[in-house]
Amino acid sequence: MSKYWNNRVKNITPYVPGEQPRDRKFIKLNTNENPYPPSPKVIKAIQETANESLRLYPDPQCTEFREAVAGRYGVKSEQVFAGNGSDEILAFAFAAFFESSGPNRSEPILFPDITYSFYPVYADLWDIPYRTVPVREDFSINIADYKTPSGGVVFPNPNAPTGVPISLNDVFSLAEYLEKLDKVLIVDEAYAAFGAESAVPFINKHGNILTVHTLSKSASLAGLRGGYAIGNGELIEGLCRVRDSFNSYTVDRLALAGATAAVTDAAYYNEINRRVIATRERVTKNLRGQGFTVLPSAANFVFVKAPIKTKTSVDKTEPCISGADLMAALREKGILVRHFNKNKVADYLRVSIGTDEEMDAFLAACAAIIGNIGNTK
Ligand code: PMP
Repeated sequence: MSKYWNNRVKNITPYVPGEQPRDRKFIKLNTNENPYPPSPKVIKAIQETANESLRLYPDPQCTEFREAVAGRYGVKSEQVFAGNGSDEILAFAFAAFFESSGPNRSEPILFPDITYSFYPVYADLWDIPYRTVPVREDFSINIADYKTPSGGVVFPNPNAPTGVPISLNDVFSLAEYLEKLDKVLIVDEAYAAFGAESAVPFINKHGNILTVHTLSKSASLAGLRGGYAIGNGELIEGLCRVRDSFNSYTVDRLALAGATAAVTDAAYYNEINRRVIATRERVTKNLRGQGFTVLPSAANFVFVKAPIKTKTSVDKTEPCISGADLMAALREKGILVRHFNKNKVADYLRVSIGTDEEMDAFLAACAAIIGNIGNTK
């Protein structure tokens, strides 16, 4: 705490990203990075841009990149916004479409109680009132719970950190409801390429849907910091108004070159992501075989709970090893995964899908840890 901080900074609880180790070599399954390299065309484009042109500012409109995204999705470039990773775009979207408390205060915005933990941070940063909506016992989202007056809604599809997808019918019926209230539905499609249905083809029908995308996961470019949003032109203009009140050049020349090459190489990325999905299915089957609970995932990670402790426990849902202890035991074995010390999910771990080799090491480590406990059914 510092006397120099204003009240906003004093009171905020910032988001804590997953560990990026620098001392030791780990199998890194903790931040949902893609285990395969970016397209060679991306590397080439960045190398070709690393020249004296860096003397000049980048294109503030990100025209070429936005045109490439528009071409890929069959939308207009006016319907595309480019940003420095999707976290930045989400922060801008909260600022642009959700009302702060104060004279214009509206109903609180809604998001699930189990979801991306950056949402409450953005809400607090911009002083936007919010209410969390409990997910069902199986961690699915009950869309009817969101059809109530609110300041707008945001959720990822598939949801994070559970990986559970939301049907397009649910997305549309909520968009339709919110349209009558003149409110925005932000659909964070960070992981949609791994199995959820994208709402992009319907942005013309529902002018209040903003889909937000990242290059960090499906395009193997977490280190580049690139993302984009797709929605109707008014929404995109709203995002531009926030960006241009903050920093005109959020995407640098190297990132623009790499990002443009990435969105135009669908063939390469379809192939590596097909492999991630196949590995996810194999890992899910193996873990279930070991007695783990594995939520159905449409993402590049799985959300898992150790086998139930059956011999001694009265609580029939209690795992034989807590989420925190399993994470620590895996770390000992050189494997990093993510644990959220939060009500409802403290027994679970989020495990990113790595290469087949990495996941074999993870599965063997789980079997050894659980085998050592030896008191499960
Ligand atoms: N949305 C969700 C649901 C995420 O899990 C992440 C990654 N932490 C992001 C958005 C942000 O990704 P990035 O800023 O790397 O684009």
